[in-house]
Amino acid sequence: MTRTVLLLLLLTRSAFAEWPPPPPLDADRLAAAGLRVVSGPRLELVTDLPPSPAIDELPSVVEAAMPAWDRYFAHTGEQAPADWRLRMYLVRDRQPLEALGLMPDRGGDFLNGLSLGYEAWVAEQSTDYYRRHLVLHEATHSYMATVLGGCGPGWYMEAMAELLGTHAWDPGSGRLELGVMPASRGASAYWGRVKSVRDAFAAGKALSVPAVMKIDNRQVLGPDSYAWVWSLAKLLDSHPRYQPRFRDLPKEVLREDFDDGFRAAFADDWSDLALEWRLFVSRLDYGYQVAPEAIDFRPGRPLAEEPAEVTVAADRGWQSTGVAVEAGRPVRLSASGRFVVHRDAEGTPWPCEAGGVTLEYFAGRPLGMLLAAIDQRESAGGEGGSAWFEGSLLRPVGVGPEAELVPLHSGTLYLRVNDSPAAVAENQGELRVIVQRVKRTAQ
Ligand SMILES: [Zn+2]
Repeated sequence: MTRTVLLLLLLTRSAFAEWPPPPPLDADRLAAAGLRVVSGPRLELVTDLPPSPAIDELPSVVEAAMPAWDRYFAHTGEQAPADWRLRMYLVRDRQPLEALGLMPDRGGDFLNGLSLGYEAWVAEQSTDYYRRHLVLHEATHSYMATVLGGCGPGWYMEAMAELLGTHAWDPGSGRLELGVMPASRGASAYWGRVKSVRDAFAAGKALSVPAVMKIDNRQVLGPDSYAWVWSLAKLLDSHPRYQPRFRDLPKEVLREDFDDGFRAAFADDWSDLALEWRLFVSRLDYGYQVAPEAIDFRPGRPLAEEPAEVTVAADRGWQSTGVAVEAGRPVRLSASGRFVVHRDAEGTPWPCEAGGVTLEYFAGRPLGMLLAAIDQRESAGGEGGSAWFEGSLLRPVGVGPEAELVPLHSGTLYLRVNDSPAAVAENQGELRVIVQRVKRTAQ
């Protein structure tokens, strides 16, 4: 027992010892090269950029990130020591750093940023948001490498840096929130990950979870790769069922078989994850709220002679009816009830019934319209290649107040009201839906 503990301690210590302190700085030579230093307790910023609030507050941003990282990684048992401090070079022109011998020996051809232990490099960006994002991205790498002793495999390393790079910063109060879903394009100018995924999806180039896990940061990655790893981290970190397992992963960053451990942790519901991943990337947008869209995959039972009555919450994504339908056997759905689907700028609620409101459309259908879909995986065996069939969760059909559906596939019937994942949680109320067999008239 004692020997194991000792061995672990030695391993941990060697991981820390790997990163040397940054080289000393010569103030005169820096000044002569047009560089200045902005100092904070957690960040020493070396930059060629002129003084401005957005640059000079960066040490405060990293200082505010420190307790957030310590909280996020608390269960690893590691915490940044009181004297943890990162040196970051933020430059428009790399040449003066080169001349002073302050560029990295390896990886000097980085595109936007690089982290090597207690030193990081960031290329100047065109917006305050994206510059801050990259500072937090590289600083996350540095925290993980020096405090946890490692960052895990490439995809996970970049996923964590992207996840904890997305942020909301209020310079007035000094409040910083990490891991936020950007509320709008304007709130995350030039970051562009949402657009990258939407464009790739529209072009039929969406990546599967295993494909995202193959992203290897030992080569220079393009913006699309960062978009994919961020998306996967965002889904796993925000989804109530996946979050505990995802947040356990920082404990495993030193394991050679990290990816095997990841697959094993998600093996039991891998098919659910694959389906929710497809849904997530198919509708990714600013402000997307993962938790209200999380699906409880409750398998349905065959519909009895008696009609089934189910309720559909207006503020949730897809909900199992608990009813299994059969391919080719028609069912009738009749919905009743009123709910609130939206509020206007003054806060006045928009009342809505199952037909939806035609004042606003989402995904080509009236906002609030009752939608139906079938999860056919039980009959198709696993994930299936037919997740895109008409009437699947990815391609639902409109129901409205009343409709007769002839299922193309057998499976569990799911219902929801039509709304954006960014807004559905603000709805209020529910619908009652009667599901019944359609009696065939005798010939
Ligand atoms: Zn990175």
